Amino acid sequence: MSTPEHTPTLLVVEDEATLRETLRYTLTRQGYRVLTASDGPTALETAHTHKPDLVILDLILPGMDGFEVCRLLRRQSSVPILILTARDEEVDRVLGLELGADDYVTKPFSMRELVARVKALLRRASMAQQERPRILQSADLLLDPEGRKATLGGQPLPLKPKEFDLLAYLMAHKGKAFSREHLLTAVWGYNYTGESRTVDVHIRWLREKIEKDPANPVRIITVRGVGYRFEG
Ligand code: CA
Repeated sequence: MSTPEHTPTLLVVEDEATLRETLRYTLTRQGYRVLTASDGPTALETAHTHKPDLVILDLILPGMDGFEVCRLLRRQSSVPILILTARDEEVDRVLGLELGADDYVTKPFSMRELVARVKALLRRASMAQQERPRILQSADLLLDPEGRKATLGGQPLPLKPKEFDLLAYLMAHKGKAFSREHLLTAVWGYNYTGESRTVDVHIRWLREKIEKDPANPVRIITVRGVGYRFEG
């Protein structure tokens, strides 16, 4: 989103092949890069791997329904989500559940209307992106998520990829406590099969690198019964 040449990537989640392909065709012609998924687990995996700029999500899917997909997507990112709903009753549920979706269209919809919604959501997201600080900073600790560089007290701070991702996630949500399960989904991805101990181990490694006294951490705090919080 940083350059004008950036081609937004859209993820279309719809099990009906005809509609899925119509959406792919229409949106590709609009100049977007279009990925598709026909079920929830595939959608979550694709979203985690490809980090799309927007997700178009149908609510009625086989197995895991769109409500659940939306909830899990929200755990791993703030990607704009445009919901497709078939019935008016679903609209009530979408609005009532506060799923974290950004907009919805009711079937049947015109492709023209859909494209207009997509454009509006991408524009809004791009403005929000520009307002976000590009460097994460807390006192003498600096993280540059795009350049994947970290420094502590002006010195390069060598971090393994997952240590970097975990610290960046915590720093981006300073003051907020997260469960180990939430951090696993957010940093390692929905399909990661490891245990929450993985989080504890990485937190320990991070503390050894960024805390003056790793045994008495003041930056990454353990929140009893919850998980961890980045304090400063
Ligand atoms: Ca469907």
